Amino acid sequence: MPKVYLKTYGCQMNERDSEQVARMFVDRGYTVTPREEEADVVLINTCSVRDQAEQKALSNMARLRKLRDERRHVVYGFLGCMAQSRGAELVAELPHVDLVAGTQKYHKVVDHVETILRAKLSREMDDLRHPIIDTGEEAESQNTIRDHVEGGRQVSAFVSIMQGCNMKCTFCIVPFTRGPERARPIAEIVAEVRRLADQGTREVTLLGQIVNLYGRHEFPVVDGKTPFTQLLEAIHEIDGIRRIRFTSPHPVGYKEDVIAAFGRLPKLASHVHFPMQSGSDRILKLMHRPYKAGKFLAICERMKEVRPDIAISTDIIVGFPGETEEDYEQTKEMVRRVGFDHAFVFRYSPRRDTPAALLPDQLPERVKEERNQDLLALLESITAPKFAAMVGQDVEILCDGPSKRNPHRLSGRTSTNRIVILEGNERLIGEMFDVHIRETTGHTLYGEPVLAMV
Ligand code: SF4
Repeated sequence: MPKVYLKTYGCQMNERDSEQVARMFVDRGYTVTPREEEADVVLINTCSVRDQAEQKALSNMARLRKLRDERRHVVYGFLGCMAQSRGAELVAELPHVDLVAGTQKYHKVVDHVETILRAKLSREMDDLRHPIIDTGEEAESQNTIRDHVEGGRQVSAFVSIMQGCNMKCTFCIVPFTRGPERARPIAEIVAEVRRLADQGTREVTLLGQIVNLYGRHEFPVVDGKTPFTQLLEAIHEIDGIRRIRFTSPHPVGYKEDVIAAFGRLPKLASHVHFPMQSGSDRILKLMHRPYKAGKFLAICERMKEVRPDIAISTDIIVGFPGETEEDYEQTKEMVRRVGFDHAFVFRYSPRRDTPAALLPDQLPERVKEERNQDLLALLESITAPKFAAMVGQDVEILCDGPSKRNPHRLSGRTSTNRIVILEGNERLIGEMFDVHIRETTGHTLYGEPVLAMV
């Protein structure tokens, strides 16, 4: 049967969508191969969050054109956010591309590929140049991302709970590429997580652009609990699931019932990735993020009250159009006051068709880079002591498999989302146990299972 090579760029959402596409090919008897040179079908799931991500996908697809020199039937396709935003333009730029499928068409990809393959193998399409461009909206498409690749044990799995976003952050292309918010029914998500638990999954990460607003258009508040809190509670009841994570929430609609859940649901991991983007109210307004830095801080402090060991990570943009030294200092002040455990710092990158790209006072790259390095240094001064303080402690981890860097070692995560590398037997994979921390590099912890020390 034909072999599919599927390359994914971008976020966890894209990884989850690619996994669904892979599963659909496997169900049709295809093999998903990591080796591009043996592919009959080449698919690139793309990201549009920054120009760099788009350029990488374009140059990779151009490079892979050579496969067709050996095998004329090779099918090429773009999926995901760039496919959604650029559509037919991609075929004009790269004429060997046969398929462009948008973010609401993942469930159609196998059918489209089979149509093209059949035409190519029967030489009906060789010179016809009719690529398939499918980027329309499709009702219920959010409900098609529900299966996982079977076989290997997935100790930790992503579960997509919604698609799209109705917020209109002025720097963000996601609402254009992922469409309006659409939530999956709670019962379907619970069934998916139960299937995963039966296959040995112990941790799930609930995915969405703004997860705390999950189901706000579709499902009622019950007993003062938002649909998101209802979902967390339902998943909490599933045997076999030991940890629940979610990403990404938004300060808007991050209500007391969600925070209180950290006090009632012990399986809820002690970590929240909570994008702040800026500490300046003036910049938050220009970003069209309708909350004040003070409110963001108050939510973080409330979460620490309810779950004292909670780790908070975030996203911050530096160099947003019009950002003054004073605005930037306000961002630094917020970083100090929250005491983030980790932060992804991004230099503002204008995205076409986004309002912020048209704003006056675009800053020079030099200033963006200076603030980027300066903020990373501040973050390092906050996080390094936290890591150092863990040396000599026993911390509970979920061991999720071999270390990515050294397959002879095991890797796991603490509830606070810190990576721990340890020596140990494969039998530990999927187990939760204490590890005695011996050392740290400032971003990774190293230790040995406490049971080994008994
Ligand atoms: S909340 Fe804002 S940044 Fe996040 S996906 Fe929606 S529009 Fe983009």
